[in-house]
Amino acid sequence: MPGQKTSQMLIIDKLYKGQMPGKEELLKLLTSHGSEDEEYLFKLARKVRERTYGKAVYIRGLVEFTNYCRNNCYYCGIRRSNSNICRYRLSDKEIYNCCDEGYGLGLRTFVLQGGEDAYFTRERLCTIIENIKKKHPDCAVTLSVGERDYKDYLAWYESGADRYLLRHETAMEWHYNKLHPAEMSLSHRKECLFMLKEIGYQTGAGFMAGSPYQTPECIVEDLYFLHGLKPHMAGIGPFISQKDTPFASQNNGTLKQTLFLLGIVRLMLPDVLLPATTALGTIAPDGRKKGLLAGANVLMPNLSPVYARDKYNLYDNKASAGEESAQCINLIKKCIESAGYIMDLGCGDCIVK
Ligand code: SAH
Repeated sequence: MPGQKTSQMLIIDKLYKGQMPGKEELLKLLTSHGSEDEEYLFKLARKVRERTYGKAVYIRGLVEFTNYCRNNCYYCGIRRSNSNICRYRLSDKEIYNCCDEGYGLGLRTFVLQGGEDAYFTRERLCTIIENIKKKHPDCAVTLSVGERDYKDYLAWYESGADRYLLRHETAMEWHYNKLHPAEMSLSHRKECLFMLKEIGYQTGAGFMAGSPYQTPECIVEDLYFLHGLKPHMAGIGPFISQKDTPFASQNNGTLKQTLFLLGIVRLMLPDVLLPATTALGTIAPDGRKKGLLAGANVLMPNLSPVYARDKYNLYDNKASAGEESAQCINLIKKCIESAGYIMDLGCGDCIVK
């Protein structure tokens, strides 16, 4: 009958009302839905994001400051065993210059992301954070440097870091072990997330859509994990293969699946800061705009020095020009406006209503 809600729409309604559907229901929603269900989800996702954030889309300047990494994640192009990559690390001065340039462009959040690089000791990063905050006290500093110990996290927080991004990658133990070598563990990754939250960081978790071996059951666990953690930020982007990794010939995640997950996460965590990621912009030219229309409210253009951009190759063909480049802030603004939203250059803290 026309106008009648599908059973998938009823599950979406539950999410919209703040109820967590059962695992079987989520599984059904993930594995069987039509384009009408998608449109229904995205419409509600936009409604929910507008309730808290209005039409604002926040901009973060991403500084990829080192591609040295001690880890060997099977999916990631900057993994330790990749000898086909030219390693770099920015000097303190270069990092400050990136932030100064970003500040001049109007940005008020700087995300320092890198591989797990022991060169950046607790003290070195403290100094860098303190200097950025001293020069730009009206800005937020976000760190994304992987798993470190409690004392590091605490010292960086006390130096002024405000936020920390650490995707859990997958909440299923067996799947975690398919994506990572034995020296890494899901339990430690989760422990880090709990420490970060306890210290007081605005914390971000997340996972890749369509990562190798991922099943719908894995995604249900990811959603339940996010629901339990209640992070301030959630990073969800498609897996994209990188030619020098063990996953070189694996299929990429899709635009369609990623958008659907963004919509679900928006309903499940109404106030979360949710980026339309670079990976989404890489698999489809209009990926970012579609991400915004599915419930995302953050963009993270690249502020790294141009020479470093093609060296921070987590995956192949990573976009770093045009709308991915902070220098092209006018293109970013146009993209946001074409989706019916407004670029907000404030530091954009997580609002909990
Ligand atoms: N070392 C930091 C930053 C990792 S890079 C950390 O451990 O958190 C940031 C994110 O990029 C990762 O969390 C991962 O989810 C994503 N990523 C890595 N390789 C990728 C790939 N091949 N395709 C898509 N996303 C990838």
